[in-house]
Amino acid sequence: MRPIPDPLPDKDPIWEPDILALAIELVKEGLHGVSIQQLLSLTKVRIRAIYQSVHHTAALSGPPIVGDAQFYLNARNGKDRSGFEWNLQGALFLHAYQSIQSAMDGYKVNRGWLLLNAYRAYRRWTRPLEPRKTPLLNINQGYSLLRMSNLCNPGEFGELALTYCENCNRRYLVSLKHELITQVCPIEAMEDYHRRRTQRVITARKVSKTPRTRA
Ligand SMILES: [Zn+2]
Repeated sequence: MRPIPDPLPDKDPIWEPDILALAIELVKEGLHGVSIQQLLSLTKVRIRAIYQSVHHTAALSGPPIVGDAQFYLNARNGKDRSGFEWNLQGALFLHAYQSIQSAMDGYKVNRGWLLLNAYRAYRRWTRPLEPRKTPLLNINQGYSLLRMSNLCNPGEFGELALTYCENCNRRYLVSLKHELITQVCPIEAMEDYHRRRTQRVITARKVSKTPRTRA
């Protein structure tokens, strides 16, 4: 599918088949109807008809439930460590988006087209993870991440940004609302957590094996 320019060539008969084809592919991936409306300026009636045709069901109504920026950051509270995984997944998706956007070499491309191609690249990269119970992003979460990041509308303030770890070469997400120095790479944070946990277990065993002295 050729890249559709931004701004959208609305009501241009040359681009209409491409826009429709893109809408069909986004519906196949399960992108919420409201988001397709925002990205491709198609009417609700048109999107409902595509949903009906592709999935034989009505399009979901209302805004998609996708979580906030905090969901994709390392630690939501002291006990919940799933943010580490979501951080890495989110970073991988945004990395795909950024790579495709950069490959366009300044040619402005529709965000829906970039979203679809970035999401499919992300799913290809994460296919080996599927048999395991690793959490994977759905396309609605991908779109939500884009809107929270500084990639979607370059020049505008985003809440999340991609950064790079000098230790493990991984990319990860940071919040632009907090001091960057306090936000460590999720890989280092996970390793640190497991190291401290192992140390606690070893210490507990040593204590339980120490013979008690009789009074
Ligand atoms: Zn790292």
